[in-house]
Amino acid sequence: MNFAVIGSPIEHTLSPAIHYANFNSLNLDDTYRALHITPEDLNHMKDVIKQYDLNGFNVTIPHKEAIMDHLDFIDQRAIEVNAVNTVLIKDDKLYGYNTDVTGYKQAYTDRFGSRKRNILILGAGGASKAVYRAHNELGDDITIYARREASFETFTDQNFDKLSSLQNLKKFDVIINTTPIGLKNEDLYDVMSLSRENITEKTIGIDLIYNPEKTPFLYAFEEANAMNGLSMLVNQAIHAFEIWYDDEYEGDYDAVYAALNKKFGGGVK
Ligand code: NAP
Repeated sequence: MNFAVIGSPIEHTLSPAIHYANFNSLNLDDTYRALHITPEDLNHMKDVIKQYDLNGFNVTIPHKEAIMDHLDFIDQRAIEVNAVNTVLIKDDKLYGYNTDVTGYKQAYTDRFGSRKRNILILGAGGASKAVYRAHNELGDDITIYARREASFETFTDQNFDKLSSLQNLKKFDVIINTTPIGLKNEDLYDVMSLSRENITEKTIGIDLIYNPEKTPFLYAFEEANAMNGLSMLVNQAIHAFEIWYDDEYEGDYDAVYAALNKKFGGGVK
């Protein structure tokens, strides 16, 4: 079968490495291409699908919302977060899913379990909505910080407390960075005027960023309580694979982590 990831820019995507590690381990001779697709190209996706004989594709920045106008069916979770990152092509019809939600949820629960917690989500963009949906499904108490009030209105439901300032914060069990702050090693505590005072040895810290492997944000948490975004990325990829194969195969997580360790020189869990 043939798959792809579409986005712009697309050069630095890890998705082909992840999928090929999985295909190789399962002895599948499938292909997975990284395709540079502009917003204008999105109108010609049927041609792209034909050209590469695609059975499915992943969708990344900036198309996760716009692709929804081109689909025949959209899964409920994807509707709730207003974003599709996985498309299945079957009988010339396009089916959209969101495995960022399930990928994040699995990464989080595998590592930290699923007991009810007090969650603070920093940021209110696309990734924040996936994280919010996952914690909502887990029945957590959720607070979201956004620097612009208008961002809260972009959520399809608002079962969370809203924060427009990070001053005089209460204590949270989990703090998650869903903003890009840290991609260039920026210190989120300075940029957002967030105090480290409320972070204890028990507080869980999650950054959706995985490159750099450890952002300045994560350094404030105990090693055992800190998680970067790589396991979310791997889980969303494997969940996409399982959708494409209609659960005929289970993805091989060990093979994927081994390949990423080779690529990154170790340290990837
Ligand atoms: P996005 O839709 O552009 O959202 C970014 C959010 O961050 C927006 O709410 C933005 O607020 C906020 N923000 C940016 N700078 C801020 C600041 N100085 N103070 C407060 N808020 C700020 O981007 P996204 O797609 O959600 O991606 C966000 C991050 O998650 C990226 O680093 C991406 O690589 C990562 N990610 C990781 C995975 C994974 O699998 N690990 C998956 C998806 C995304 P405004 O709207 O006010 O600008």
